[in-house]
Amino acid sequence: MEHLFWAIAGRCPNCGKGALYAGFNKIAPTCSVCHVRFERWAGNWTIPVVMGYTTAALVGFGLIFYYQWRGTLMEHDTVIMAAAVLSGVTMYPLCKNISMYMLWNNGFVTVDPPTLVKSDDAPAATTPRETGA
Ligand SMILES: [Zn+2]
Repeated sequence: MEHLFWAIAGRCPNCGKGALYAGFNKIAPTCSVCHVRFERWAGNWTIPVVMGYTTAALVGFGLIFYYQWRGTLMEHDTVIMAAAVLSGVTMYPLCKNISMYMLWNNGFVTVDPPTLVKSDDAPAATTPRETGA
């Protein structure tokens, strides 16, 4: 559970020491302390975006039902729209941190595997198909 609090605080969900962000709103590529890669898949941003939209929808529909129940829905339409948009925007960084914890918890935030380096000592191509002859 402490890993979730580290992520919410903007720290690496793996070690809790490195910073999750490199700048104001950009997730760092890797942790500067334990070197796990935070965003391994280019579509990772979809998770916090969906969470942010869900937050905005919950706030918006909650206010719609509240003001409908009070009988003053049409007098508060601007307030409802502003609250929904602002809640989605302001909760987005928290959604990012929580989604990074979820990725870590499911094994997607790990250290990069060693890369395969093509060696010059590899045997030369010998078949006609490989040499192009
Ligand atoms: Zn770390």
